[in-house]
Amino acid sequence: MKIAKIELFQIEWVPGEAPEKRGAFIRVYADDGTVGIGEASPMQGGLASLTILKHHMAPDLIGADPLDHAVIHDRMLHKLVKLGPEGALGGALAALDIALWDLKGKLLGQPVCKLLGGAWTTKLPFYASIGNNGVRTVDEVLRVVEQRLKDKPSAIKIRFDNERTKLDHDIAGDIAKAKAVRKLCGDDFPLAFDANNGFTMGGAIRMGRALEDLGFWWFEEPLQHYHVSELGSLARHLDITVSAGEQTYTTAGVADLINAGVRMVQPDIVKMGGITGLMRCAALCQAHGAELVPHQTQPTVGHLANMHVAASQLHGTKPVELDDPSARRHVIFSNPPKPIDGLFHLPTAPGLGIETIEAEVSKRRIEVA
Ligand code: CA
Repeated sequence: MKIAKIELFQIEWVPGEAPEKRGAFIRVYADDGTVGIGEASPMQGGLASLTILKHHMAPDLIGADPLDHAVIHDRMLHKLVKLGPEGALGGALAALDIALWDLKGKLLGQPVCKLLGGAWTTKLPFYASIGNNGVRTVDEVLRVVEQRLKDKPSAIKIRFDNERTKLDHDIAGDIAKAKAVRKLCGDDFPLAFDANNGFTMGGAIRMGRALEDLGFWWFEEPLQHYHVSELGSLARHLDITVSAGEQTYTTAGVADLINAGVRMVQPDIVKMGGITGLMRCAALCQAHGAELVPHQTQPTVGHLANMHVAASQLHGTKPVELDDPSARRHVIFSNPPKPIDGLFHLPTAPGLGIETIEAEVSKRRIEVA
């Protein structure tokens, strides 16, 4: 079996929308015509990752055996490590790896979770991840939370998404919103708070104590992601679970977080190593007794890849992430994953279990230069 062709393209979900809002996809064709699809981190439309794939990876991969995906992953990582390994290179490796796993599943006639050793569950609860609360009033936050509760999430995470250069911007307001959401959802409903790197150490301790009093489940990315040892110190200092890792692009980076003291890590399958990378993280977390709760904001290919891995984990301690509604990003797929009564059902079709609508792909695809 050989890789015969690799396609790289962005998808413009809505005509004329800003390039940085586009999705970034790869399709890898085997020489028998079977095709696998992958997705890169959508930062700035994923264009930097697609460009790396097109010019620095794809030419090397024509003729390679697609079943050698882990060898390919490590070969490409080490060939291009000085372009990264963080950020755009991570997204490129992830997209390629996800496509090769989808292809492998189709070639072998098995869903990805079977190739990973089986699923502990095929029905996955999710948490509603709600962004942009930093700029909302308390009342506006409550209205959005009410709306998302209708999907029957098993938990809710409120994200603050503040301007990244401002720290401790509105701690009193953040606490007021957390309190209001707790009151709305009731004492026992699982809640999480995502600071999006918005605090100093002192601000994070104040916020963390407030979240402890409110019975929040976890406190996500309180500090800048690159302050790894401080994140570890904070995690050891607070009682609430402090999480980090969505901006960590290597297994070694995840190991650094765990070694620093972070007990819940959140690598993202479209940013760090794809399915191969996330499975390595799963082993790392299992060995260290750390929780692996992957970050995931892409509603189709990335979400399915993530769910196949999540389903195969021994300790799936938290629900999978479901970002703000984005049905428009379903348009190129005939069977995008949707929750039924609060649960995602893992597809049983070979590969990831997602099919494209070619007419929609053709209409919306933008080639990578
Ligand atoms: Ca986050």
